[in-house]
Amino acid sequence: MNKTDIMRLVRANICSLEPYSTARDEYQGSVGILMDANESPFGDGLNRYPSTGLRGRLIGTMSEIKGMAPGQLFLGNGSDECIDLCYRVFCRPGIDNAVMISPSYGMYKVCADVNDIEARQVMLGKDFSLPVADILAASDAESRLLFICSPNNPTANSFPESGIRTLLDKFPGMVVLDEAYADFSVRGSLKSLLEEYPNLIILQTISKAWGMAGLRIGLALADPQVVSILNKVRYPYNIGTDTLSLALKLLPEARMESRVKEILKERERVREALSEFTCLKEVLPSDANFFLVRTEKPRALYDFLLGRGIIVRDRSSNPICGPALRITVGTAEENDRLIKAISEYDTI
Ligand code: PMP
Repeated sequence: MNKTDIMRLVRANICSLEPYSTARDEYQGSVGILMDANESPFGDGLNRYPSTGLRGRLIGTMSEIKGMAPGQLFLGNGSDECIDLCYRVFCRPGIDNAVMISPSYGMYKVCADVNDIEARQVMLGKDFSLPVADILAASDAESRLLFICSPNNPTANSFPESGIRTLLDKFPGMVVLDEAYADFSVRGSLKSLLEEYPNLIILQTISKAWGMAGLRIGLALADPQVVSILNKVRYPYNIGTDTLSLALKLLPEARMESRVKEILKERERVREALSEFTCLKEVLPSDANFFLVRTEKPRALYDFLLGRGIIVRDRSSNPICGPALRITVGTAEENDRLIKAISEYDTI
C-alpha cells in the first residue's frame, strides 16, 4: 500500500474536517497579557491551558528517545486514546470492521463496540502463534483496522517479523501493532518497518517499562500524514500541563533499561521457582513483564493469593489460554511473597 492509498482509508468526514483551533495554537508566545482563552487570570500557571510549546518539547524528547522524526510521533492520553482515535479516523460506524487477534488486549474490542464497528476476533493458534492465513480470511473490503499486539497481552509471546510483514503486505486496511511491552522483548521494536509501510501504526507507551502508568501518555508512531490526521481529531488539550512537565522531568531519570534488566532477571527467577510446584501444570514462557501459569482450579488459587494480599489476573475465560492466571513481575520482595504463598497453596 502506498502513501496515497492510506489517505483513501481515512473517513471522508475526517479528511474534510476543519479542526478546532485553540487560543494557544493561535498565539504561542509567553509575553503579554493573555486575554484570549477565557481562563482565570489568577493562579501559578495551571490557570492557563497547556502550551503548544510544552507539548512540542515532549514530542522532541520522545522522538530523540525513539530515533524518529518529530512528525512521525503522536502523543495520546495513554495508548488507549490512540486505539480509540484509530477507530474514529479510519472506521465508518455501522459499515466498516476491525480484525484483531484473540486473546489480546481488551480495549481493541471495547473501542470497536463504542464506535459501532464490527470486531472480528481471530483466535491465535493453540501454541499462541499468529494466525496469518485466518486473519486474511477474516478480512474484506470493509476491514479498515487490524490490531496485533506483540508481545501479546495476555499470552506474553512475540510474533515473528515475517508474519507481520505478510499482514502489512496483504491486509486491506491499516495495521496497528501494539508494542506496549516491546521494551521487555528480546525482539525489540519493529518501528523500522515504518520506513517501508505507510499502512503501519505502532503504539507504544510510557506506562510499562518506563514506569509511568499514572501519567497517561501513549505514543503512536506512524507516517506523518497519519500523525497529522490523529492530531486533527484528538481533544485540543488531551494531555495536561502537569503531565507534560512531569514526563519531561522524569523521562531522563527513569533508568528504564536497568529496571527492565532487573524485571527480566526476576521474571526468570520466579518462573523457575514456580515450575517446581505441582499445583501449577505449566509456567509459560514470556517475552514481557508478565507470564501465564496454568493450574487446574485458577479461581481457587486466585482467591488463595487474594487472601494473602496478592492480586493477580484470572485469564481463564479464554479457550486458548486454558485455566490460567496472569502474573505481573513485581519487586524481588513482592515476588518472594508470591513464591511463598504459592508454595503454601501447593501443600494444601
Ligand atoms: N496496550 C496493551 C497491550 C496493554 O496491555 C495496555 C494496558 N495494560 C495498553 C495498551 C494501555 O496502555 P496505556 O497505559 O498507554 O493506555
